[in-house]
Amino acid sequence: MNNQSDNLSLKNHTILVTGASDGIGREAALTYARQGARVLLTGRNLQKLEDVRRQIAAFGQSPAEIFLLDFATADAAQCREFADRIARTAPQLEGVLHNAGILGTIQPMADIPEQEWQQVMKINLEVTFFLTRALLPLLLNAPAASLAFTSSSVGREGRAGWGSYAVSKFATEGMMQVLAAEYQHSNLRVNCINPGGTRTSMRASAFPEENAALLKTPADIMPVYLYLMTDASRGQTGISFDAQPGRKAGPAE
Ligand code: NDP
Repeated sequence: MNNQSDNLSLKNHTILVTGASDGIGREAALTYARQGARVLLTGRNLQKLEDVRRQIAAFGQSPAEIFLLDFATADAAQCREFADRIARTAPQLEGVLHNAGILGTIQPMADIPEQEWQQVMKINLEVTFFLTRALLPLLLNAPAASLAFTSSSVGREGRAGWGSYAVSKFATEGMMQVLAAEYQHSNLRVNCINPGGTRTSMRASAFPEENAALLKTPADIMPVYLYLMTDASRGQTGISFDAQPGRKAGPAE
């Protein structure tokens, strides 16, 4: 990974971030805006997104815009309509960060209620796919574009109790690999980021007993999020990146 700061400008980049209202997605939106990107904030909670937009306005860079979408209820037609709305204001996208996600509950696979399985798949996988399909033309309109999905260590190696979440993340890795192969001769690079244990509310619900002070913060893990959206990562595709290389999965010690 090339971390030279002169390569990390995002001027003239329009980047859409899902789950931009909180945690890692919020930090990514702020990071991209600081580097000069025009950021399209996507989420379901207008008030939280307005707070992020206000924070971005304070740096005096391009104003951020909000596009509401609730992944729990969105269908394919709504995702197409969402992409049409984006296209009217941003006919080309240099980046999409798929970050929105839910954990579900930690319990044995045999006990997962259908509704929970369906909701985790819907938010983490299905709507992420519908949106990707609808936004591809806008990514292909850019001279060079980056599509990044969010994975997890349990999306590479199964772990007891992480049922629907782990399966959704394995599928996300698969979606990334298929798309990277399909677009390998195009302007579009497609990759995954595994954040590794990071201090957010999702992490606190997964590991309520751990000492959160030992975890990296969303700001700490931004280098790979930034790298993948900048021209420094052109040509990198089909890769599952670790935001915390070498970190052992599981509770912070
Ligand atoms: P948070 O719970 O802090 O943030 C999740 C984001 O997703 C929020 O913006 C949330 O919106 C949004 N979201 C949730 N449900 C919906 C929905 N129905 N419609 C639209 N948006 C929704 O989680 P993290 O920041 O920790 O996680 C971000 C990503 O990183 C996820 O994909 C997660 O799986 C992954 N990850 C995180 C790790 C960690 O240790 N934190 C480790 C490995 C992977 P709202 O603010 O409205 O709730």
